[in-house]
This record gives sequence, structure tokens and C-alpha cells, in this order.
Amino acid sequence: MPGEECIVYRKNDMPHGHDKDPSIVSTTHWHRVESRDTQKPDDFTVQCDICPRACRLHEGQRGLCYVRARMEGKIVLTTYGRSSGFAIDPIEKKPLNHFYPGSSVLSFGTAGCNLACKFCQNWDISKSREMDTLMEFASPQKIAEMAKQSGCTSVAYTYNDPTIFHEYAIDTAKACRALGIYNVAVTAGYVCEKPREEFYAEMNAVNVDLKAFTEEFYWKQTGAHLAAVLETLKYIKHQTNVWLEITTLLIPGLNDSDEELQAMTDWIIKELGPDVPLHFSAFHPDYKMLHIARTPKETLTRARSIALKAGLRYVYTGNVHDAEGGSTYCYQCGQTLVGRDWYQLDQWEMDINEHGTGCCSQCGTVCPGHFTTDFGQEFKAKGETSVVKRVRLKP
Ligand code: SF4
Repeated sequence: MPGEECIVYRKNDMPHGHDKDPSIVSTTHWHRVESRDTQKPDDFTVQCDICPRACRLHEGQRGLCYVRARMEGKIVLTTYGRSSGFAIDPIEKKPLNHFYPGSSVLSFGTAGCNLACKFCQNWDISKSREMDTLMEFASPQKIAEMAKQSGCTSVAYTYNDPTIFHEYAIDTAKACRALGIYNVAVTAGYVCEKPREEFYAEMNAVNVDLKAFTEEFYWKQTGAHLAAVLETLKYIKHQTNVWLEITTLLIPGLNDSDEELQAMTDWIIKELGPDVPLHFSAFHPDYKMLHIARTPKETLTRARSIALKAGLRYVYTGNVHDAEGGSTYCYQCGQTLVGRDWYQLDQWEMDINEHGTGCCSQCGTVCPGHFTTDFGQEFKAKGETSVVKRVRLKP
């Protein structure tokens, strides 16, 4: 991977007393690789099998994600129960526009990441090396209870990629499920097959970041490979019941050409179908990409129009004020079903049956996704703009 490899951490960084430290837990997705050096018959590495990065670690090394490390010949997760913070967000902020629109979601993440995006918009968390000072402790049970008490419909595994805190995310998802809370992932989809199966067995919805549609962009700008992400998208759509939406952050000059957007949307329609919502969101200069200007709104509008012309039915713009690009429309008659500007809802024209199927109130055409009558009724009764405000929480 360009520029970064497995990171050796200094001796006194090595976590001690892990048998008493609840944030260090053993893991199962790794295997031992024997040394081919006949001079060192006892030497070996352990390969992490969580993501296609496949880090091979000597004793005391951390993987590229920084949070999985080799201790006593095995791979451990070092951030179990450690969070970089909690907030209550509107579900539209993830972004998910067809999964209980208008509901609130308890968002949390840990630290580290298995990609190395030069344009990372969350780099203070994903690149964090200060886990002791940064994080608050919260058990899976505590998170599920916090979500329940604060009236959240879902918990989101977000801010950094839940792939790397696999064991913590899965235990939390199980605790949430037991309390009737849905689980929502925000991920780059760069994950190996077996952990992927375990993870999506616990999720209800996901937004996958499809960062571009060229291998060159993936390798040079993120250090990952496009093919593995496309495999994850196909897996979610065809082999799970998890609700899927996709986001692409458009970076001027790097992944926003007409040809690339056309190829991406053609692939989505062919492989995933026209009903998967696609969000084009605006980049702002950050991390190692300070020299590129913010994405103009016109670029998002152009991308949306290419995707709609190609046949995708639900295409959104994000991170900008754009009522037209933020709203959900009936693909059959064109009526606005859910009006939005940024994360703010201002119109609701959907009928919802007892099975949670949303239909256009004008022509009855089904809008795919998961809906509830609660929000629509509440919204209409208030007769005003209703949106969940962002709130920061302490565990
Ligand atoms: S999760 Fe990925 S980046 Fe982290 S140690 Fe495992 S293979 Fe490496």
C-alpha cells in the first residue's frame, strides 16, 4: 500500500495486563503463517483475516488499522468497549433516506481505519493514535440501553469503519436487537468473506461508501482495491436482507468525470438494480487533500442527472442545501414523497401499511425501503418541519 505498512509500536506502547484490561479481547479471524527461513524455524507471523489488507504481524505489531495487534502470538482487538464519542443524529445524516426517514439514530465509533484515504473527512478519529485519552468506555449493553432511553430507533456503527472493531460491533448489535433497536452500519465495505457474513447477519441497514469507480483511484487515494468493495455490494444486495444505500463523495478532478459516473451507475443498475438509493456528497478539503477545492453544487447536480438518466430511481445530493436533490420522489408519477433539505424533512406524502411498505399517496406505487406510520403521522400532526437535532451524549 502506498506510504503505509504495518506499524510497529514502541515497547512501552504495548498494552500490559490485558487479562485485566477489558478493551483488549481475543479474536478468531486470523491464522498463523510459518517462516520460510530455515535459519529461524520457530519464527512465524500471524495474518489478520478481517479485511483484504491481510496484515502479517510479528509480536508487538499493530495492523494498518492500528486497533488490531499481535499479542502473545495471537491477534487481539485493542478497542473493545472504547468509543470516540456518542451523538444522536437524524438517520438522514448517515446518509440513509429509505430507512425510517425522520427517525433518530445513536451514532458511535472507535478509532483507526483499515483504509488510508488521503481525503478522509473524519481523520481525527480514523487516524487517532491516542486511544487512552480519546475514548470513553461503554459496554454493548450500555450502548443499547442509551439508545433505548433516548428514544432512538437505531444504533449506527459509524465515524470509523466497523469492520475493524468487528467483535465490539457484533456484541453491541446483539444487545441492541434484544432491546428492539435496529443496527445500521456505515462502511467502506472492505472486508473478508467470513467476518462479512457474521457482521451482516446482525445489521438491518447499511450505507456503503463507494469511493470511486476506478482501481487507480482506490489504490492511489485509499490504499484499497475496488473489486473487494463491489463484491461486498453484491453480497449485501443478493445474499442478505440488509437495506442497502450507497454514497460516493465526489472529489473535483479525481472521481467526478462523466465517464466514470456513467460507468458506476451502469454497474449499479446491472448488478444491484435500479432501486438502490445512491447519494452523491460534497467533499471539503481535509487531511492530506487540502489543495483541492470543495465540490461545487453543480457537480453533484450533474452526477445526479447522469445517474437518473441511466435509470437509477432514487439519487440524492448530500452535504449541500439542495431541496430538489435531497428529496424522495415517486419514480412513477413524480410526486414528492419525502421532502428534504440537507437533513431537514419538510414534506411527507407517503401512505404506509402495517407491513411498513411505503406507497405514493397519489398513484400508490411502492417506494422501496423501511417506513413507519409513526413519523408521517407525527409530522403531519405538527404541521411543521420536524427533524432530530444533533445531540452529544456521555455514556
Ligand atoms: S483489520 Fe485489516 S488493517 Fe486491521 S489488522 Fe486486520 S487486515 Fe490489517
